[in-house]
Amino acid sequence: MRQLNTELIQHRTANLYRTRHILSSPQGPDIIVDGRQMLTFCSNDYLGLAAAPQVIEAMQHGANEYGVGSGSSHLISGHYAPHQELEQALAAFLGRPRALLFSTGYMANIGVLTALLGSNDALFEDRLNHASLIDGGMLTTARFQRYPHVNLEILKRRLTRSAMERCIVATDGVFSMDGELAPLPELAELAAAHNAWLMVDDAHGFGVLGAKGTGTIEHFGLNVDQVPILMGTLGKAIGVFGAFVAGSEDLIETLIQKARSFIYTTALPPALAVATLEALRLVQAEPERREQLQARIAQFRSGALNMNLPLMDSITAIQPLIAGDTERAISWSKQLENKGILIPAIRPPTVPVNQARLRITLSASHTEEHIARLLEALSQLKIS
Ligand SMILES: *Cc1c(COP(=O)(O)O)cnc(C)c1O
Repeated sequence: MRQLNTELIQHRTANLYRTRHILSSPQGPDIIVDGRQMLTFCSNDYLGLAAAPQVIEAMQHGANEYGVGSGSSHLISGHYAPHQELEQALAAFLGRPRALLFSTGYMANIGVLTALLGSNDALFEDRLNHASLIDGGMLTTARFQRYPHVNLEILKRRLTRSAMERCIVATDGVFSMDGELAPLPELAELAAAHNAWLMVDDAHGFGVLGAKGTGTIEHFGLNVDQVPILMGTLGKAIGVFGAFVAGSEDLIETLIQKARSFIYTTALPPALAVATLEALRLVQAEPERREQLQARIAQFRSGALNMNLPLMDSITAIQPLIAGDTERAISWSKQLENKGILIPAIRPPTVPVNQARLRITLSASHTEEHIARLLEALSQLKIS
């Protein structure tokens, strides 16, 4: 195994070595990281639900009622009443016939693509899609092509040329490292014109975008016929854990029969479903969380534009600052860390080469003062 050591040393020399911080407090702007109080701008807890008292209480109640482990997979004896209720609540919230829970978004994406596609089929994905969609594509026996980021011309050409039986076009709704929205209306039109099914991974839109908070599809005013396959996660804006796929009766029944990452894994603990039901209730009952988040995004963007920081074209909670090479991104992150602000550098292969960045994420739980502190720290960054 000496090779491994050599490879690790090379990895470290290339500034690509990754390590973990140790947290010892709940999610929130002020957390204890590696024993030190830090102000954070890197969580996906966009609505501040991960440590909301009502959600914590629901989880405790769920554990008292149902215990901790689910005991088995959904198809054996692990499908509890709160799982069923959560699937129905998700479907009702989204205005879709049905929803199906998966243990993680990663598993949902792999499950959908491998269940729906075979060797006579084709899959087209945006090059900047999340790793789980890409990995799902690599696991299918379908013909798998990645198109250049939001390049609809090239996608159109490839769809026109494709002679495969069934086609899926899969895209992130909000690109996870850029915060930018996918052009869903144009993608839906292209997919319809070529008889392809559009699949949207809305991990960063669900709970946040649209007047009701149902996500990117609501933001663009699209329906279930235009986007027949919707995947969303429950560990980001919803603040808990897990994921779902929502769509037609036939889609969900097919996934129950065929999605291996649904069939061959232990069901989520039922207490998590109880907690998620409460979080989903809060998403609907407290739109002020989304308004608060929008206000923080606006405050950050206007401050950053005044300072001529190189912002990306993002209306979402994800507001990256591109550093370029990994060394510079690490230096920025270190400088902020010295001021008590945690924003780890995001490096290849998570983002393309020469696009290392600080992926700043904002939350409804940030105050105006928190954003002001971040802007002040950014204004003192030594850029090179
Ligand atoms: C986080 C994320 C996933 C994976 O979801 P998990 O529940 O964390 O496994 C999938 N797609 C996108 C775009 C994500 O950001």
